Amino acid sequence: MKIMKFGGTSVGSPDRMRALIPLISDDEDKIIVLSAMSGTTNSLVEIADLLYADNINGASKKIDELSEKYFSVVEELYATAEQKIAGHEMIDSHFDYIRNFTLRVFTKLQEKAILSQGELMSTTLFHLLLQERGIESALLPALSFMRIDKDGEPDSFYIKENINRELENYKSEKIIITQGFICRNAYGEVDNLKRGGSDFSASLIGAAVNASEIQIWTDINGFHNNDPRFVEDTKVIRELSFDEAAELAYFGAKILHPSSVNPAKESNIPVRLKNTMEPEDAGTLITSASNLADYKAVAAKDNISVLRIRSDRMLMAYGFLRKVFEIFEAYRTPIDMITTSEVSVSITIDNSEFIDQIAKDLKELGTVDVEQNQSILCVVGDFRTERTGSAPEIFEALNTIPLKMISYGGSQNSLSLLIDTSDKTKALNLLSKHLF
Ligand code: ADP
Ligand code: ASP
Ligand code: MG
Repeated sequence: MKIMKFGGTSVGSPDRMRALIPLISDDEDKIIVLSAMSGTTNSLVEIADLLYADNINGASKKIDELSEKYFSVVEELYATAEQKIAGHEMIDSHFDYIRNFTLRVFTKLQEKAILSQGELMSTTLFHLLLQERGIESALLPALSFMRIDKDGEPDSFYIKENINRELENYKSEKIIITQGFICRNAYGEVDNLKRGGSDFSASLIGAAVNASEIQIWTDINGFHNNDPRFVEDTKVIRELSFDEAAELAYFGAKILHPSSVNPAKESNIPVRLKNTMEPEDAGTLITSASNLADYKAVAAKDNISVLRIRSDRMLMAYGFLRKVFEIFEAYRTPIDMITTSEVSVSITIDNSEFIDQIAKDLKELGTVDVEQNQSILCVVGDFRTERTGSAPEIFEALNTIPLKMISYGGSQNSLSLLIDTSDKTKALNLLSKHLF
Protein backbone atom coordinates (compact mmCIF):
# COMPACT_ATOMS: atom_id res chain seq x y z
CA MET A 1 0.00 0.00 0.00
CA LYS A 2 1.37 3.42 -0.92
CA ILE A 3 0.19 6.92 -0.09
CA MET A 4 -0.08 9.51 -2.88
CA LYS A 5 -0.74 13.06 -1.74
CA PHE A 6 -1.62 15.63 -4.39
CA GLY A 7 -1.35 19.30 -3.39
CA GLY A 8 -3.45 22.29 -4.41
CA THR A 9 -1.92 22.92 -7.84
CA SER A 10 -2.04 19.21 -8.64
CA VAL A 11 -5.84 19.34 -8.35
CA GLY A 12 -6.08 23.03 -9.26
CA SER A 13 -8.07 22.74 -12.52
CA PRO A 14 -10.11 20.17 -14.47
CA ASP A 15 -7.05 19.53 -16.69
CA ARG A 16 -4.81 18.92 -13.70
CA MET A 17 -7.32 16.55 -12.13
CA ARG A 18 -7.59 14.56 -15.34
CA ALA A 19 -3.79 14.44 -15.56
CA LEU A 20 -3.70 12.53 -12.26
CA ILE A 21 -5.47 9.51 -13.75
CA PRO A 22 -2.39 8.00 -15.48
CA LEU A 23 -0.39 8.56 -12.26
CA ILE A 24 -2.75 6.46 -10.17
CA SER A 25 -3.46 3.75 -12.70
CA ASP A 26 -0.82 1.19 -11.70
CA ASP A 27 -1.81 -2.00 -9.95
CA GLU A 28 -0.64 -1.11 -6.46
CA ASP A 29 -3.11 -0.48 -3.60
CA LYS A 30 -3.10 3.18 -2.74
CA ILE A 31 -4.60 5.85 -0.53
CA ILE A 32 -4.89 9.15 -2.37
CA VAL A 33 -4.82 12.20 -0.12
CA LEU A 34 -6.03 15.41 -1.75
CA SER A 35 -5.68 19.08 -0.85
CA ALA A 36 -8.27 21.66 -1.75
CA MET A 37 -7.99 23.13 -5.28
CA SER A 38 -5.32 25.85 -5.20
CA GLY A 39 -6.63 29.19 -3.96
CA THR A 40 -9.68 27.66 -2.29
CA THR A 41 -8.41 27.57 1.30
CA ASN A 42 -7.20 31.17 0.93
CA SER A 43 -10.66 32.18 -0.31
CA LEU A 44 -12.32 30.33 2.57
CA VAL A 45 -10.00 32.14 5.02
CA GLU A 46 -11.05 35.46 3.45
CA ILE A 47 -14.72 34.53 3.78
CA ALA A 48 -14.19 33.63 7.45
CA ASP A 49 -12.35 36.92 8.06
CA LEU A 50 -15.25 38.88 6.52
CA LEU A 51 -17.74 36.99 8.68
CA TYR A 52 -15.67 37.73 11.79
CA ALA A 53 -15.79 41.40 10.82
CA ASP A 54 -19.57 41.03 10.42
CA ASN A 55 -19.25 42.08 6.77
CA ILE A 56 -22.08 39.84 5.56
CA ASN A 57 -22.35 41.48 2.12
CA GLY A 58 -18.64 41.12 1.50
CA ALA A 59 -18.70 37.50 2.63
CA SER A 60 -21.76 36.69 0.48
CA LYS A 61 -20.07 38.21 -2.56
CA LYS A 62 -16.94 36.09 -2.01
CA ILE A 63 -19.04 32.97 -1.47
CA ASP A 64 -20.86 33.62 -4.76
CA GLU A 65 -17.58 34.11 -6.61
CA LEU A 66 -16.13 30.88 -5.25
CA SER A 67 -19.28 28.91 -5.98
CA GLU A 68 -19.30 30.19 -9.58
CA LYS A 69 -15.74 28.97 -9.95
CA TYR A 70 -16.78 25.52 -8.77
CA PHE A 71 -19.79 25.45 -11.07
CA SER A 72 -17.53 26.03 -14.07
CA VAL A 73 -15.10 23.37 -12.81
CA VAL A 74 -17.98 20.86 -12.77
CA GLU A 75 -19.08 21.88 -16.27
CA GLU A 76 -15.58 21.44 -17.63
CA LEU A 77 -14.53 18.37 -15.65
CA TYR A 78 -17.23 15.90 -16.60
CA ALA A 79 -18.36 14.67 -19.98
CA THR A 80 -21.70 13.14 -19.07
CA ALA A 81 -24.92 14.91 -18.03
CA GLU A 82 -25.28 12.46 -15.17
CA GLN A 83 -21.93 13.40 -13.62
CA LYS A 84 -22.53 17.11 -14.18
CA ILE A 85 -25.79 16.84 -12.25
CA ALA A 86 -24.10 14.90 -9.42
CA GLY A 87 -21.28 17.48 -9.35
CA HIS A 88 -23.66 20.45 -9.26
CA GLU A 89 -25.71 18.89 -6.46
CA MET A 90 -22.57 18.28 -4.43
CA ILE A 91 -21.27 21.84 -4.95
CA ASP A 92 -24.72 23.25 -4.14
CA SER A 93 -24.87 21.45 -0.84
CA HIS A 94 -21.41 22.66 0.20
CA PHE A 95 -22.14 26.27 -0.71
CA ASP A 96 -25.57 26.14 1.00
CA TYR A 97 -23.70 25.00 4.09
CA ILE A 98 -21.16 27.84 3.77
CA ARG A 99 -23.95 30.42 3.17
CA ASN A 100 -25.65 29.31 6.38
CA PHE A 101 -22.82 30.88 8.34
CA THR A 102 -23.83 34.33 7.11
CA LEU A 103 -27.01 34.00 9.17
CA ARG A 104 -25.53 33.24 12.60
CA VAL A 105 -22.94 34.37 15.09
CA PHE A 106 -19.49 33.45 13.82
CA THR A 107 -16.93 31.70 16.03
CA LYS A 108 -13.64 29.77 15.70
CA LEU A 109 -15.65 26.57 15.45
CA GLN A 110 -17.52 27.79 12.40
CA GLU A 111 -14.31 29.06 10.84
CA LYS A 112 -12.87 25.55 10.96
CA ALA A 113 -16.03 24.09 9.50
CA ILE A 114 -15.74 26.57 6.59
CA LEU A 115 -12.04 25.82 6.04
CA SER A 116 -12.81 22.10 5.74
CA GLN A 117 -15.02 22.58 2.69
CA GLY A 118 -12.18 22.82 0.15
CA GLU A 119 -10.83 19.31 0.75
CA LEU A 120 -14.36 17.88 1.02
CA MET A 121 -15.18 19.29 -2.43
CA SER A 122 -11.92 18.37 -4.21
CA THR A 123 -12.11 14.74 -3.08
CA THR A 124 -15.73 14.34 -4.16
CA LEU A 125 -15.00 16.00 -7.52
CA PHE A 126 -12.15 13.56 -8.11
CA HIS A 127 -14.17 10.57 -6.93
CA LEU A 128 -16.96 11.46 -9.37
CA LEU A 129 -14.37 11.83 -12.15
CA LEU A 130 -12.99 8.33 -11.55
CA GLN A 131 -16.55 7.01 -11.43
CA GLU A 132 -17.30 8.60 -14.80
CA ARG A 133 -14.17 6.96 -16.26
CA GLY A 134 -15.22 3.56 -14.88
CA ILE A 135 -12.29 3.48 -12.42
CA GLU A 136 -13.30 1.76 -9.22
CA SER A 137 -12.52 3.80 -6.07
CA ALA A 138 -13.84 4.52 -2.58
CA LEU A 139 -14.14 7.85 -0.78
CA LEU A 140 -13.08 7.51 2.85
CA PRO A 141 -13.98 10.53 5.02
CA ALA A 142 -10.92 11.80 6.90
CA LEU A 143 -13.22 13.00 9.67
CA SER A 144 -13.90 9.34 10.52
CA PHE A 145 -10.29 8.67 11.51
CA MET A 146 -8.04 11.78 11.56
CA ARG A 147 -7.90 13.32 15.01
CA ILE A 148 -5.85 15.67 17.19
CA ASP A 149 -5.72 15.58 20.99
CA LYS A 150 -6.35 18.44 23.40
CA ASP A 151 -2.80 19.74 22.87
CA GLY A 152 -3.39 19.89 19.12
CA GLU A 153 -1.06 16.94 18.48
CA PRO A 154 -2.16 14.04 16.28
CA ASP A 155 -3.71 11.20 18.26
CA SER A 156 -1.71 8.44 16.55
CA PHE A 157 -3.35 5.63 18.47
CA TYR A 158 -6.87 6.78 17.54
CA ILE A 159 -5.87 7.40 13.91
CA LYS A 160 -4.33 3.95 13.53
CA GLU A 161 -7.25 2.10 15.14
CA ASN A 162 -9.87 3.98 13.18
CA ILE A 163 -8.35 4.10 9.71
CA ASN A 164 -7.55 0.39 9.82
CA ARG A 165 -11.07 -0.41 10.99
CA GLU A 166 -12.54 1.76 8.20
CA LEU A 167 -10.28 0.14 5.61
CA GLU A 168 -11.69 -3.28 6.54
CA ASN A 169 -14.87 -2.12 4.77
CA TYR A 170 -12.99 -1.47 1.52
CA LYS A 171 -10.84 -4.57 1.25
CA SER A 172 -11.48 -5.07 -2.45
CA GLU A 173 -10.77 -1.44 -3.39
CA LYS A 174 -7.39 -0.62 -4.94
CA ILE A 175 -7.93 3.13 -4.79
CA ILE A 176 -9.06 4.90 -1.63
CA ILE A 177 -9.51 8.67 -1.75
CA THR A 178 -9.44 10.82 1.38
CA GLN A 179 -9.06 14.45 2.44
CA GLY A 180 -5.82 15.98 3.61
CA PHE A 181 -5.71 18.81 6.17
CA ILE A 182 -9.02 18.18 7.95
CA CYS A 183 -9.50 16.32 11.20
CA ARG A 184 -11.54 16.26 14.38
CA ASN A 185 -10.26 17.59 17.67
CA ALA A 186 -10.45 16.02 21.14
CA TYR A 187 -14.04 17.27 21.48
CA GLY A 188 -15.14 15.75 18.17
CA GLU A 189 -15.39 19.14 16.43
CA VAL A 190 -14.14 19.71 12.89
CA ASP A 191 -10.60 21.07 13.02
CA ASN A 192 -7.49 21.06 10.82
CA LEU A 193 -3.75 20.35 10.86
CA LYS A 194 -2.87 23.99 10.09
CA ARG A 195 -2.04 25.50 6.70
CA GLY A 196 -0.23 23.14 4.38
CA GLY A 197 -1.42 20.28 6.60
CA SER A 198 -2.24 17.78 3.83
CA ASP A 199 1.41 16.68 3.81
CA PHE A 200 1.05 15.94 7.51
CA SER A 201 -2.16 13.98 6.82
CA ALA A 202 -0.34 11.87 4.22
CA SER A 203 2.50 11.10 6.59
CA LEU A 204 0.17 10.27 9.50
CA ILE A 205 -1.88 8.00 7.26
CA GLY A 206 1.26 6.34 5.89
CA ALA A 207 2.45 5.58 9.41
CA ALA A 208 -1.02 4.36 10.50
CA VAL A 209 -1.31 1.84 7.65
CA ASN A 210 2.41 1.05 7.51
CA ALA A 211 2.63 2.14 3.87
CA SER A 212 5.54 1.11 1.63
CA GLU A 213 6.07 4.72 0.54
CA ILE A 214 4.58 8.16 1.08
CA GLN A 215 4.54 10.20 -2.12
CA ILE A 216 4.03 13.96 -1.97
CA TRP A 217 3.11 15.21 -5.45
CA THR A 218 3.46 18.95 -5.98
CA ASP A 219 4.44 21.58 -8.56
CA ILE A 220 8.24 21.28 -8.41
CA ASN A 221 10.80 18.46 -8.99
CA GLY A 222 11.42 17.76 -5.33
CA PHE A 223 13.34 19.45 -2.55
CA HIS A 224 15.58 22.26 -3.77
CA ASN A 225 18.78 23.42 -2.08
CA ASN A 226 17.31 26.89 -1.48
CA ASP A 227 13.93 28.59 -1.58
CA PRO A 228 12.94 28.98 -5.27
CA ARG A 229 10.56 31.79 -4.34
CA PHE A 230 13.51 34.02 -3.42
CA VAL A 231 16.55 32.57 -5.20
CA GLU A 232 17.15 31.81 -8.87
CA ASP A 233 19.09 28.73 -10.01
CA THR A 234 18.18 26.53 -7.08
CA LYS A 235 18.87 22.82 -7.65
CA VAL A 236 16.97 19.71 -6.74
CA ILE A 237 18.47 17.46 -4.06
CA ARG A 238 17.97 13.81 -4.97
CA GLU A 239 18.42 12.30 -1.51
CA LEU A 240 17.85 13.64 1.97
CA SER A 241 17.74 12.00 5.37
CA PHE A 242 14.61 12.27 7.51
CA ASP A 243 16.48 14.54 9.94
CA GLU A 244 17.69 16.88 7.21
CA ALA A 245 14.25 17.10 5.60
CA ALA A 246 12.55 17.60 8.98
CA GLU A 247 14.91 20.42 9.83
CA LEU A 248 14.38 22.17 6.48
CA ALA A 249 10.60 21.76 6.66
CA TYR A 250 10.51 23.07 10.22
CA PHE A 251 12.67 26.03 9.28
CA GLY A 252 10.53 27.22 6.42
CA ALA A 253 10.90 25.04 3.29
CA LYS A 254 7.28 25.36 2.19
CA ILE A 255 7.38 22.19 0.10
CA LEU A 256 6.66 20.18 3.28
CA HIS A 257 4.47 20.98 6.28
CA PRO A 258 6.78 21.55 9.30
CA SER A 259 5.68 18.41 11.17
CA SER A 260 5.15 16.14 8.20
CA VAL A 261 8.46 14.24 8.25
CA ASN A 262 8.13 12.94 11.83
CA PRO A 263 5.46 10.23 11.43
CA ALA A 264 7.29 8.83 8.37
CA LYS A 265 10.60 8.93 10.22
CA GLU A 266 9.22 7.16 13.29
CA SER A 267 7.87 4.36 11.12
CA ASN A 268 10.87 4.44 8.76
CA ILE A 269 8.71 4.88 5.65
CA PRO A 270 10.43 6.53 2.64
CA VAL A 271 8.96 9.84 1.52
CA ARG A 272 9.22 10.68 -2.18
CA LEU A 273 8.62 14.20 -3.48
CA LYS A 274 7.42 14.28 -7.09
CA ASN A 275 6.26 16.82 -9.66
CA THR A 276 2.79 16.19 -11.16
CA MET A 277 3.82 18.32 -14.16
CA GLU A 278 6.93 16.18 -14.78
CA PRO A 279 6.10 12.74 -13.41
CA GLU A 280 9.08 11.09 -15.16
CA ASP A 281 11.53 13.10 -13.04
CA ALA A 282 12.83 11.05 -10.10
CA GLY A 283 12.18 13.82 -7.57
CA THR A 284 13.62 13.64 -4.06
CA LEU A 285 13.78 10.55 -1.88
CA ILE A 286 13.81 11.01 1.90
CA THR A 287 14.93 7.99 3.94
CA SER A 288 16.89 7.12 7.07
CA ALA A 289 20.10 6.84 5.00
CA SER A 290 22.36 9.82 5.40
CA ASN A 291 24.67 10.84 2.71
CA LEU A 292 26.72 13.66 4.14
CA ALA A 293 27.81 16.78 2.30
CA ASP A 294 29.35 19.95 3.74
CA TYR A 295 26.32 21.98 2.75
CA LYS A 296 23.11 20.55 1.38
CA ALA A 297 20.38 23.16 1.59
CA VAL A 298 19.18 26.39 3.11
CA ALA A 299 15.73 27.45 4.30
CA ALA A 300 14.28 30.44 6.12
CA LYS A 301 11.43 30.84 8.53
CA ASP A 302 9.72 34.22 9.00
CA ASN A 303 7.56 35.83 11.69
CA ILE A 304 10.11 35.15 14.39
CA SER A 305 10.37 37.28 17.52
CA VAL A 306 13.36 37.37 19.82
CA LEU A 307 13.17 38.02 23.57
CA ARG A 308 16.43 38.95 25.31
CA ILE A 309 16.52 38.59 29.08
CA ARG A 310 19.42 40.04 31.05
CA SER A 311 19.81 39.46 34.74
CA ASP A 312 22.68 39.57 37.20
CA ARG A 313 20.73 36.92 39.12
CA MET A 314 21.72 34.51 36.39
CA LEU A 315 25.40 34.79 37.31
CA MET A 316 26.56 31.49 38.82
CA ALA A 317 22.94 30.62 39.62
CA TYR A 318 21.13 27.40 38.94
CA GLY A 319 17.39 27.15 38.33
CA PHE A 320 17.28 30.47 36.45
CA LEU A 321 16.58 28.96 33.04
CA ARG A 322 13.87 26.76 34.54
CA LYS A 323 12.04 29.92 35.66
CA VAL A 324 12.42 31.38 32.16
CA PHE A 325 11.14 28.21 30.47
CA GLU A 326 8.19 27.92 32.84
CA ILE A 327 6.92 31.26 31.59
CA PHE A 328 6.93 30.05 27.98
CA GLU A 329 5.29 26.83 29.08
CA ALA A 330 2.54 28.68 30.94
CA TYR A 331 1.61 30.41 27.66
CA ARG A 332 2.02 27.18 25.64
CA THR A 333 4.56 28.92 23.41
CA PRO A 334 7.30 26.73 21.92
CA ILE A 335 10.84 28.04 21.74
CA ASP A 336 12.76 27.74 18.45
CA MET A 337 16.28 28.98 19.11
CA ILE A 338 18.17 29.85 22.27
CA THR A 339 21.59 31.28 23.05
CA THR A 340 23.01 32.12 26.46
CA SER A 341 25.87 34.02 28.03
CA GLU A 342 26.75 34.28 31.71
CA VAL A 343 24.15 36.95 32.43
CA SER A 344 21.76 36.89 29.50
CA VAL A 345 19.66 34.61 27.40
CA SER A 346 18.08 35.17 23.98
CA ILE A 347 15.08 33.12 22.95
CA THR A 348 13.13 33.08 19.71
CA ILE A 349 9.49 32.14 19.20
CA ASP A 350 7.32 31.94 16.10
CA ASN A 351 3.99 32.25 17.85
CA SER A 352 3.69 35.80 19.15
CA GLU A 353 0.08 35.48 20.38
CA PHE A 354 1.13 35.87 24.05
CA ILE A 355 4.34 37.81 23.54
CA ASP A 356 3.23 40.79 25.66
CA GLN A 357 2.25 38.61 28.60
CA ILE A 358 5.45 36.57 28.29
CA ALA A 359 7.60 39.74 28.23
CA LYS A 360 5.71 41.10 31.24
CA ASP A 361 6.29 37.92 33.27
CA LEU A 362 9.95 37.76 32.18
CA LYS A 363 10.46 41.27 33.55
CA GLU A 364 10.14 39.75 37.03
CA LEU A 365 13.46 38.01 36.27
CA GLY A 366 15.47 40.81 34.71
CA THR A 367 15.44 43.38 31.93
CA VAL A 368 13.69 42.27 28.78
CA ASP A 369 13.98 43.47 25.24
CA VAL A 370 11.76 42.26 22.39
CA GLU A 371 12.44 42.45 18.67
CA GLN A 372 10.00 41.33 15.98
CA ASN A 373 10.18 40.82 12.19
CA GLN A 374 13.06 38.40 12.46
CA SER A 375 13.84 35.31 10.35
CA ILE A 376 15.73 32.15 11.16
CA LEU A 377 18.08 30.91 8.45
CA CYS A 378 18.76 27.21 8.66
CA VAL A 379 21.74 25.69 6.81
CA VAL A 380 21.59 21.91 6.55
CA GLY A 381 24.84 20.03 6.04
CA ASP A 382 27.49 18.13 7.95
CA PHE A 383 27.90 19.75 11.36
CA ARG A 384 29.10 16.70 13.28
CA THR A 385 30.91 17.78 16.44
CA GLU A 386 34.18 16.10 15.47
CA ARG A 387 34.46 18.07 12.23
CA THR A 388 36.82 20.98 11.86
CA GLY A 389 36.57 23.99 9.62
CA SER A 390 33.16 23.38 8.24
CA ALA A 391 31.37 26.65 8.80
CA PRO A 392 33.61 29.56 7.68
CA GLU A 393 31.95 29.68 4.26
CA ILE A 394 28.66 30.55 5.91
CA PHE A 395 30.12 33.48 7.80
CA GLU A 396 32.13 34.68 4.81
CA ALA A 397 28.96 34.57 2.72
CA LEU A 398 27.03 36.59 5.28
CA ASN A 399 29.69 39.09 6.27
CA THR A 400 27.54 42.02 5.10
CA ILE A 401 24.47 40.93 7.09
CA PRO A 402 23.97 41.56 10.81
CA LEU A 403 23.72 38.17 12.55
CA LYS A 404 21.55 38.44 15.68
CA MET A 405 21.97 34.91 17.01
CA ILE A 406 23.94 31.81 16.01
CA SER A 407 23.02 28.30 17.02
CA TYR A 408 25.80 25.76 16.37
CA GLY A 409 26.07 22.38 18.00
CA GLY A 410 22.39 21.91 18.75
CA SER A 411 22.07 19.58 15.80
CA GLN A 412 24.64 17.45 13.93
CA ASN A 413 23.07 18.38 10.65
CA SER A 414 22.19 22.04 10.84
CA LEU A 415 23.29 25.48 11.86
CA SER A 416 20.77 28.28 12.46
CA LEU A 417 21.14 32.02 12.38
CA LEU A 418 18.80 34.84 13.29
CA ILE A 419 18.60 37.84 10.98
CA ASP A 420 16.20 40.71 10.24
CA THR A 421 13.52 39.59 7.82
CA SER A 422 14.43 42.57 5.62
CA ASP A 423 17.83 40.88 5.04
CA LYS A 424 16.39 37.47 4.22
CA THR A 425 16.33 37.50 0.41
CA LYS A 426 19.86 38.91 0.27
CA ALA A 427 21.10 36.34 2.80
CA LEU A 428 19.53 33.38 0.96
CA ASN A 429 21.11 34.54 -2.30
CA LEU A 430 24.53 35.07 -0.72
CA LEU A 431 24.41 31.60 0.80
CA SER A 432 23.47 30.08 -2.56
CA LYS A 433 26.34 31.84 -4.27
CA HIS A 434 28.96 30.83 -1.67
CA LEU A 435 27.81 27.35 -0.64
CA PHE A 436 26.44 25.70 -3.77
P1 ADP B 1 1.28 22.00 -2.59
O1 ADP B 1 0.13 22.89 -2.85
O2 ADP B 1 1.47 20.93 -3.61
O3 ADP B 1 1.30 21.48 -1.17
P2 ADP B 1 3.20 24.02 -1.83
O4 ADP B 1 3.00 25.35 -2.47
O5 ADP B 1 2.73 23.88 -0.42
O6 ADP B 1 2.58 22.92 -2.77
O7 ADP B 1 4.76 23.61 -1.87
C1 ADP B 1 5.48 23.66 -3.07
C2 ADP B 1 6.20 24.99 -3.19
O8 ADP B 1 7.15 25.10 -2.12
C3 ADP B 1 7.05 25.14 -4.41
O9 ADP B 1 6.30 25.59 -5.51
C4 ADP B 1 8.11 26.16 -3.99
O10 ADP B 1 7.80 27.45 -4.39
C5 ADP B 1 8.06 26.14 -2.47
N1 ADP B 1 9.35 25.85 -1.85
C6 ADP B 1 9.91 26.55 -0.82
N2 ADP B 1 11.10 26.05 -0.47
C7 ADP B 1 11.33 24.99 -1.30
C8 ADP B 1 12.40 24.07 -1.44
N3 ADP B 1 13.46 24.11 -0.65
N4 ADP B 1 12.30 23.13 -2.40
C9 ADP B 1 11.23 23.08 -3.21
N5 ADP B 1 10.17 23.91 -3.12
C10 ADP B 1 10.22 24.87 -2.17
N1 ASP C 1 -5.69 23.27 1.72
C1 ASP C 1 -4.86 23.46 2.89
C2 ASP C 1 -4.05 24.73 2.74
O1 ASP C 1 -4.13 25.39 1.72
C3 ASP C 1 -3.99 22.29 3.18
C4 ASP C 1 -2.94 21.95 2.12
O2 ASP C 1 -3.05 22.36 0.97
O3 ASP C 1 -2.01 21.22 2.47
O4 ASP C 1 -3.39 25.10 3.66
MG1 MG D 1 1.76 22.39 0.67
